[in-house]
Amino acid sequence: MSADTRPAATTDTAATTDAAATVSRLHAAFATGRTKPLAWRKAQLRALRRLLVEQEAAFTAALRADLGKSAAEAYTTEIGFTITEIDHTLRHLDRWVRPRRIPVPLALQPARARTVREPLGTVLIISPWNYPLQLALAPLVGALAAGNCAVVKPSELAPATSAALAHWLPRTLDRQAAAVVEGGVPETTALLEQRFDHVFYTGNGTVGRIVMTAAARHLTPVTLELGGKSPVVVEPGTDLATAARRIAWGKFMNAGQTCVAPDYVLAIGDTATALERQLTAAIREMYGTDPAKSPDYGRIVNERHFERLTALLSDGRIVTGGDHDRADRYLAPTVLADVDPEAPVMREEIFGPVLPIVRVPDLDAAIAFITARDKPLALYAFTSSPATKRRLAAETSSGALAFGVPNAHIAVPGFPFGGVGESGLGGYHGAHSIDTFSHTKSVLDKPLLADPLRLAYPPFTAVKSRL
Ligand code: NAD
Repeated sequence: MSADTRPAATTDTAATTDAAATVSRLHAAFATGRTKPLAWRKAQLRALRRLLVEQEAAFTAALRADLGKSAAEAYTTEIGFTITEIDHTLRHLDRWVRPRRIPVPLALQPARARTVREPLGTVLIISPWNYPLQLALAPLVGALAAGNCAVVKPSELAPATSAALAHWLPRTLDRQAAAVVEGGVPETTALLEQRFDHVFYTGNGTVGRIVMTAAARHLTPVTLELGGKSPVVVEPGTDLATAARRIAWGKFMNAGQTCVAPDYVLAIGDTATALERQLTAAIREMYGTDPAKSPDYGRIVNERHFERLTALLSDGRIVTGGDHDRADRYLAPTVLADVDPEAPVMREEIFGPVLPIVRVPDLDAAIAFITARDKPLALYAFTSSPATKRRLAAETSSGALAFGVPNAHIAVPGFPFGGVGESGLGGYHGAHSIDTFSHTKSVLDKPLLADPLRLAYPPFTAVKSRL
């Protein structure tokens, strides 16, 4: 969890008036029923898809301005990712929202039972700066597909992407049903004072608590997509060259500012030394001898995070990296070895391009290390042992568990994406977004013709009371 040092929430009257007006407009639109037909929902998704295709250059430029993202990364992890989410949803939406028949027990027959999906109403989506497009739009896809009105509040720490969303979404979607509210703490606080039917928040746990507390006042359900320290267990006997390449890929994309990025390595037995060598080689292979010059390497989002990250460099022996340039918000891909498990770098989520390696003697010690800490958003392991995989699955808890590759589970459309415990509450993507943004209503329909229920009515005879 990255500590939040922004000023505490203040009540801003203008922001509150604006928020109240926006939210009541959307509540009114929802009440008309315009968002419920599947045709409306699909039209919104198709329009959003068209926008992403037609304005790819504008969004790519915004992502580069905010985070120095390469065009390739902007496409695969943000624009293309969202298009895939839309396509998957359009392909399966009819089936996901179809009423389901439910068996009726003999004693209640004749009757028909089914569950139907109904949209919740007006939802609030609050998104963070690290994947500022994907993390605003992927929840929006689910909210609209489920037939809701939605307010999107992008992160003020990714101002170019926030401005692009505020410019394009109202020109693309049904204005009655979707709105973008830009701003920081006062604007978000004003929104959270309103009554929503669901609040979907992605970001750090400190603000997650603020969101949940505000939502509780209206008994509004929340989804909290949070972060934490995602470990990578490396066992002897695994292919360390491939493991190092994949760890480096997952860690250093977006300059380490990825919620599911490997946070630290638990190197079992004698793997640490070889891993140091292999990670150094992998970083060089991907970003060259001077990553500052690589067009594929991102930048730290702002000065506050730059300061926070460079302060962690003294928490271990620098194996590779460590170079930094404040003016450019550049911090090289860095591997730290001989790290004390109690050092600051091991106490809070790193959320940047610093990868500590902690040595542990065996799998028991690795499992004890993981379970003594908050439940991570993801747990990764490189091992060739089926027994190790079984033990990690059975003895640890995390949002997701992946063997042989970090980060990639987010791209499996059938998976729910979310955390557990400190790493979050609830999940989404694909069908799971429909679960999140719908109410599943039970509908029982019993004909009045025959009335075997008479057996259940008082007066209760001795025979009836045993039925
Ligand atoms: P951030 O600073 O952009 O904050 C997220 C959102 O919360 C923003 O829209 C911001 O305006 C709002 N906010 C900030 N302070 C607030 C307050 N006091 N009251 C109301 N709203 C407020 O992003 P961040 O929190 O620094 O994001 C990084 C964290 O998010 C990391 O912990 C990361 O692991 C996590 N994260 C999780 C996921 C996931 O899908 N699980 C994805 C990305 C990031």
